[in-house]
Amino acid sequence: MLLSNLRTQPIRKMIPNYDPNDREAGLDLLEDLTTNAKQIQRQVLHQILTENSNTEYLKTFIHGGSDEKSFKNKVPVVNYDDIKPFIERISGGASSDIISSQPITELLTSSGTSAGKPKLMPSTAQELDRKTFFYNMLVPVMNKYVEGLDDGKGMYLLFIKPEIKTPSGLMARPVLTSYYKSQNFRNRLYNKYNVYTSPDETILCLDSKQSMFCQLLCGLIQRKDVLRVGAVFASAFLRAIKFLEDHFKELCSNIRTGDVSEWITDSRCRNAVLSILKLPNPNLADEIEQDCAEKSWEGIVKRLWPRAKYVEVIVTGSMAQYIPTLEFYSGGLPLVSTMYASSECYFGININPMCKPCDVSYTLLPNMAYFEFLPVLDDKDDNDPRNDDMIVDLVDVQIGRYYELVITTFTGLYRYRVGDVLVVTGFHNKAPQFGFVQRRNVVLSIDTDKTSEEDLLKAVTKSRQLLQTSNLLLMEYTSCTDTSSIPGHYVIFWELNPRNKTDPFELSASTMEECCSQVEECLDYVYRRCRSRDKSIGPLEIRVVRMGTFDELMDFCVSMGSSLNQYKTPRCVKSQGAIQILDSRVIGRFFSPRAPKWEPLGLDSN
Ligand code: AMP
Repeated sequence: MLLSNLRTQPIRKMIPNYDPNDREAGLDLLEDLTTNAKQIQRQVLHQILTENSNTEYLKTFIHGGSDEKSFKNKVPVVNYDDIKPFIERISGGASSDIISSQPITELLTSSGTSAGKPKLMPSTAQELDRKTFFYNMLVPVMNKYVEGLDDGKGMYLLFIKPEIKTPSGLMARPVLTSYYKSQNFRNRLYNKYNVYTSPDETILCLDSKQSMFCQLLCGLIQRKDVLRVGAVFASAFLRAIKFLEDHFKELCSNIRTGDVSEWITDSRCRNAVLSILKLPNPNLADEIEQDCAEKSWEGIVKRLWPRAKYVEVIVTGSMAQYIPTLEFYSGGLPLVSTMYASSECYFGININPMCKPCDVSYTLLPNMAYFEFLPVLDDKDDNDPRNDDMIVDLVDVQIGRYYELVITTFTGLYRYRVGDVLVVTGFHNKAPQFGFVQRRNVVLSIDTDKTSEEDLLKAVTKSRQLLQTSNLLLMEYTSCTDTSSIPGHYVIFWELNPRNKTDPFELSASTMEECCSQVEECLDYVYRRCRSRDKSIGPLEIRVVRMGTFDELMDFCVSMGSSLNQYKTPRCVKSQGAIQILDSRVIGRFFSPRAPKWEPLGLDSN
């Protein structure tokens, strides 16, 4: 049944039943959702308000009312810190109905932090079905563009993370841990498209090293069946390639002998792998070992999984910096970013998944939540949109404009600022499509300069091109400010690897200095003014760290509470612990040899 026909039905029907094996029905549903985006959004808001008008939170503002006008006039647009007291009360044992009429069944730990701790997002039992619906919508879209995907398997490297119990006994865990442990995930198998090489036991193994080893082993054993490979974010996929590079001999030896290494002690995981490994297979082991032993790992993914049609990883936002490395390893396979989602809510899908990474847009599904958009002013010095009156509805955004996403969910978030800046790239029917721009307010600043994550990515992308004449590849980067001397300066940490693993690691001081200079040339006007005219910023520094440092940074962040699946390298590190990890592994320091070009603008008054 189409969703628009359900406008007068109760809230649970906002998640239509549909069989993802039925491609036509799926595509029809997508057309219906996008054509009727406006009506569906109104219905979503109406249902959320009707259900939750008596919650303590909403009553403060709209006194039990449920009309759209009061909601828009009286309910404030909020940040995490505004709702944190409510979340903390729930975590401490208060009844869910302070924010949600449906019981809060768990708290999802976001990769965003507040006062150094992961933010906690409320969730309900019904959300699992909403997520399943969302994942199911990806199926007809992929099948539309790539034929025969249900004739084989997906090698997806997926991980869970330990959970903690809040004082009230609620589970607090990352959103993907919650989903992978649910019946919804286990029941995915009724759709042939969802057959993975990794047995659930290997995904659900808490030891990330054992999990990675076993998942790669299963992926290699079944390599002739694999039609697509991937992980959630690009960084996780590259980490798997690195793991493969370090462990391929042992993996091959397991395949050769038909036995699993002794250090795989998680018995469920071990048995699941043994049920796939079954017998010694020296021929397969030789084939794989031969591929892995080649001097260059360029195109290794295509060589090891010759039937793979694409690599499914998110490469938008800060993940865009991995594109060159992914392209190197994947040997021309398309990189497919299918979805845009968060712990708060799943937002949208890419309905043109085979497009180039730079063209990826996400179509927000209007039945997932009520979406509003705060315009972000072009002037970067004022990119924090404070004027809530300018907020617009999903269907009223304008092409080419930048907005910050604000959501009202079925789980107790009302007009909550997600913190992501999106740009409208077009419309599909009546539903807008968004490019992911950046997370708001990720900046480096020494003086009046403000450098966003996007600025830094652009400068590093330009600068890394200078490495093309060397034998080095930029694998990872992050940054911090160094104010231990006056004036302070920007520090960028780079992890470089030889293009071919047998090549020597040769750092050329002159190339590295040019890289520093190039980064500065690409940074914005205010940065260059501070640096050139005001001399309030010192020369930019690149610190080259030894190989493997960013894995250690990740281990550190994970030990501090980040999730392995959702882990994204921070583009700016502030914690002393993280900086110390980076600093203690520096193998070369280079400074920009000259101030960047800068010319005063007519209106420049300060
Ligand atoms: P978390 O709350 O830890 O799940 O992180 C969610 C955040 O990850 C989002 O708010 C975005 O900032 C980022 N994110 C999720 N999906 C994408 C995507 N497809 N492209 C870029 N960034 C994404």
